[in-house]
Amino acid sequence: MSSPDFSSLGIASSVLQAVQELGYEQPSPIQAQSIPILLEGANLLGVAQTGTGKTAAFALPLLSNLDPKQSTPQILVLTPTRELAIQVAEAFQTYARHIKGFHVLPIYGGQDMRGQLRGLQRGAQVIVGTPGRILDHLRRRSLDLSKLRALVLDEADEMLRMGFIDDVETILAETPKSCQRALFSATMPPAIRRVVSKYLGDAKEVSIASKTRTVERISQRYLMVQGRHKMDALTRILEVEEFDGMIIFVRTKSATVEVAEKLEARGFSAAALNGDLSQALRERTVNRLKKGDVDIVVATDVAARGLDVERISHVVNYDIPYDNEAYVHRIGRTGRAGREGQAILFVAPKERRLLRSIEHSTGQAISSMDLPTGAQVSSQRVEQFQQRILQQIETEDLDVFRELLEKLAHDRELSMSDIAASLAWQMQQDRPLFPKLAHIETGDRERSSGREKPFRERETREPRGREAREPRSREAREPRERSEKRSERPERSSESRKQRDEFGEFDMVTYRMEVGKNQGVSPGDIVGAIANEADIESRYIGQIKLYDDYSTVDLPDGMPKELFDHLKNKVRVCQHPMKLSRQCDESGQAAPAGKGKAPSKRPVKAPAKGKSFAKAKPDTRLDPDHKPRKKRQ
Ligand code: AMP
Repeated sequence: MSSPDFSSLGIASSVLQAVQELGYEQPSPIQAQSIPILLEGANLLGVAQTGTGKTAAFALPLLSNLDPKQSTPQILVLTPTRELAIQVAEAFQTYARHIKGFHVLPIYGGQDMRGQLRGLQRGAQVIVGTPGRILDHLRRRSLDLSKLRALVLDEADEMLRMGFIDDVETILAETPKSCQRALFSATMPPAIRRVVSKYLGDAKEVSIASKTRTVERISQRYLMVQGRHKMDALTRILEVEEFDGMIIFVRTKSATVEVAEKLEARGFSAAALNGDLSQALRERTVNRLKKGDVDIVVATDVAARGLDVERISHVVNYDIPYDNEAYVHRIGRTGRAGREGQAILFVAPKERRLLRSIEHSTGQAISSMDLPTGAQVSSQRVEQFQQRILQQIETEDLDVFRELLEKLAHDRELSMSDIAASLAWQMQQDRPLFPKLAHIETGDRERSSGREKPFRERETREPRGREAREPRSREAREPRERSEKRSERPERSSESRKQRDEFGEFDMVTYRMEVGKNQGVSPGDIVGAIANEADIESRYIGQIKLYDDYSTVDLPDGMPKELFDHLKNKVRVCQHPMKLSRQCDESGQAAPAGKGKAPSKRPVKAPAKGKSFAKAKPDTRLDPDHKPRKKRQ
């Protein structure tokens, strides 16, 4: 846990200023190790996953070495998806906010080409893009990499899985020999090792391996929740969970204040603890927690180091820690003096790998917890309400009120229960006993069956900043040659049309798209569109067959309706609407992958508007939401 602070790492003062403004207190382990290596210009191999702070690990040192006067691209970051490209570009923009004349340009498939060409002509020092589109620009000579100083391959294993590795190698070969190179990957499959030894030869390797530790006295649970719902989820947990003292861990100094203030506003007694506070103030806050003057302390890792308060019954990891060491250290703040402790971890769906890594390193499974329901919150509030009444009856002298209310009842001919009900109503006005709680999406991924759902919750994410102004179509057109191999995958037998992944088997069904060879579509275009638009990991995308005017693709069974509608109505491939539908077998049943009749070469037309399906030729397409119509009498 002992880590240098940002100012001792040698990053440029303008970049340091941005980091300080963001409230980053301390470099994460991957940052502490990577920044000095990249600053000195060496190649780097980083074994790290999302959530470890890897973006800043490469962005801060590379920005420190940037020449703002050179407007041709100096840094190129390749990412597997456009979402990540946008995210990384935004991170660069934030870290470079004090570098004058700085421009970053995200470039990805599905975005209007003209806008990208204009952006490239205007000039940008940093380009962040998906491999297919970057390659398109290289071929058109609209992207000049001759002065490139650094190339980063982000989430390299994901790029491999999505079939981009050939494109990545082609791009690598186009970069100057003197160019500094960094590769980040959560895993190191042989194909990535090969790229490393070919293009990053002497790279220094950093990884955040950590020792296994046991934390037996502490019961650990996690809740999978999107970042934007964390505050509401926390509030519900605080309402229902019986706790004595609590520490809530967040990542930044500013978040300690923000979360503590929000909790105070919601009626909890909370205080912030961070490295900006003087030693005296920190000690005072810890003493208040010890004495019970405050129940909740919201802290950063640094500020809570060594904190030993017996009454801490709960640790909440509001922001997931960067590494397993930090997790063990955090939850060790509870379960002191032989007591039982409770640890709760919030995990965003994209941070699932960190969760697994923590479980692996502690050797303990962390069980999934349910978000307290509205009914549980109500029953807890009713219980507290009753307790308060009983306590006041026991401890307070209420005679004067008794007389007052008896007189009121007598004069106005009211029952005592009418009066009590009215008083109760007034009492609970600010904190309703039966609140209507906002819906919170919790995305647990079938952990009970040991496997994640292939379909993630769709999160619409609008790009911000410069790229938001560029018109963009929704289709994600990715490289043409990329994964032709995908269509050559061996046919599986009908039984084995179940797909297998590391967690076991799952059923696949065949879908049809109204785009094919005549529309210039390649399997890579289809994978790109589905992976990006449906946020389905490429390993879940099965066999693709291309016909003249349509194609078929095998996808896992159980696609949510919202996602299906999106793919059916909104998504385009190579500028043409995908119009996804389910392929049927002869009986009109949706075909399991590989079991349907070989699709006819001519697409079957849907019945004209106004005509019923009953009269039309049996349609080979079936929507999951299509119900046979009843005959009109
Ligand atoms: P990444 O692993 O790059 O996706 O980063 C995960 C999150 O951690 C992002 O929201 C960053 O803003 C945040 N972050 C990165 N480095 C730090 C740091 N040193 N202190 C606090 N937050 C950080």
